[in-house]
Amino acid sequence: GDFAIEIDTLVVGSGPGGYVAAIRAAQTGQKVTIVEKNVIGGVCLNVGCIPSKALISVGHRFEQAQHSEDMGVFASEVKLDFEKVQNFKNGVVKKLTGGVEGLLKGNNVEIVQGEAYFSDANTVRIINGDSAQTYTFKNAILATGSRPVEIPTFKYTDRVLNSTGALNLKELPKKLVVIGGGYIGTELGSAFANFGTEVTIIEGGKDILAGFEKQMTAIVKKGLKKKGVTIEVGASAKGVEENENGVIVSYEVGGEEKKVEADYVLVTVGRRPNTDEIGLEQIGIEFAERGIIKVDKQCRTNIPNIYAIGDIVDGPQLAHKASYEGKVAAEAIAGEKSVVDYLAIPAVCFTDPEMATVGYSEESAKAEGLEVKVAKFPFAANGRALALNQTEGFVKLVARKEDGLLVGAQIIGAGASDMISELCLAIEGGMTAEDVALTIHPHPTLGEITMETAEVLLGNPIHII
Ligand code: FAD
Repeated sequence: GDFAIEIDTLVVGSGPGGYVAAIRAAQTGQKVTIVEKNVIGGVCLNVGCIPSKALISVGHRFEQAQHSEDMGVFASEVKLDFEKVQNFKNGVVKKLTGGVEGLLKGNNVEIVQGEAYFSDANTVRIINGDSAQTYTFKNAILATGSRPVEIPTFKYTDRVLNSTGALNLKELPKKLVVIGGGYIGTELGSAFANFGTEVTIIEGGKDILAGFEKQMTAIVKKGLKKKGVTIEVGASAKGVEENENGVIVSYEVGGEEKKVEADYVLVTVGRRPNTDEIGLEQIGIEFAERGIIKVDKQCRTNIPNIYAIGDIVDGPQLAHKASYEGKVAAEAIAGEKSVVDYLAIPAVCFTDPEMATVGYSEESAKAEGLEVKVAKFPFAANGRALALNQTEGFVKLVARKEDGLLVGAQIIGAGASDMISELCLAIEGGMTAEDVALTIHPHPTLGEITMETAEVLLGNPIHII
């Protein structure tokens, strides 16, 4: 038998939820132990946000190098060395995960390698290979994240890939089938299309990128088609046959059976929370649906000393949402009054062009009975967008009708992922369209589009009739 080691605050999982929670907890004076069964950084840093964005950015370089003739650039023999591309991506990941480890240590967070399994509300076993150690803790923050859903007809293999497999491919596929046109499937499909891969996206629902406005996804779809991507919607994937050279995916669309050959098939049909097999049922943690843990506004579960954050609780499965909740949970344990407020949580999709949204859309505002005014301004009327030769897209603002209070924003266009932050701040700060319109924006920048949209809302834009 082993003697239990007493600890103060236990954080399980070192993704953007867990590592941020651990650092914030340490900042409030807690003694923190973080346990990670795999590698520091979780999905986001190792096999999610960061590696996907690295591949996407290389895809842009490659694609733009070949397609900038209208700007007078004629590049011949633009080559892609996929092994180097992967090295670049792996280097980015390594810098960040190393950085996070350094930050944890610098904040005196104890890092324990192993898999946590709860035996009661104050006790956890940490299993590492053949050895196990019992720890008793005062408070715990669960941040165990999520993993790709596997469908029985598409068991993962060397050719039937989940997002991790697709990110780590050793060779560039000539043909790739993507099952599931959510943001992960579409981002990766788009990146491979930029590398020259022939991509087919098979989506079961009415449209890809559900959750973003039709006006926005229409632009993304046009761009995907231009890259040669085939999009099948309302299509159900039936199964996959594997041979030495690749896969044959069969699916049904409009009552018709179809087959498509490819080197690989990437299945991105959702992610399930890692809340099974870690003892949570036995200690009485309450669940909502599908393995999602129920929490209050401080991310506290029904067991008062155990908190849960990130992909294992309700809401969008996004890194910044996990980190935000991590800070709230850590502060709550320290006795602070922090609570979550999701109104200004943005979501970004790194397609071509990028899409970003925060707060209410026109539709969701109306659905909630909120009377709103909306305004749009196109990238095409902005000098910087023209100079960049990236004129596709618009900014859309949603403001409360009575007083112009900003309640939402949607952006599609180059740099949307960075531009949205200004509007997150405006919404978070309770600002009106007038506040944005009166803010001096540097010229010539894409940020001016945001200012001009606010002017459209007020009825006095300068650069549009
Ligand atoms: P995770 O990052 O999943 O981390 C959980 C950690 O807990 C893991 O390291 C795991 O090993 C560990 N763990 C699990 N169980 C145990 C246990 N019992 N004991 C010890 N350790 C355990 N989000 C964005 O915001 N922007 C993006 O651009 C974006 N792109 C993405 C691209 C892809 C391809 C994917 C797959 C995801 C992407 N996401 C993106 C989503 C984002 O990665 C997740 O929302 C985020 O990682 C969730 O953070 P988390 O801390 O909840 O969990």
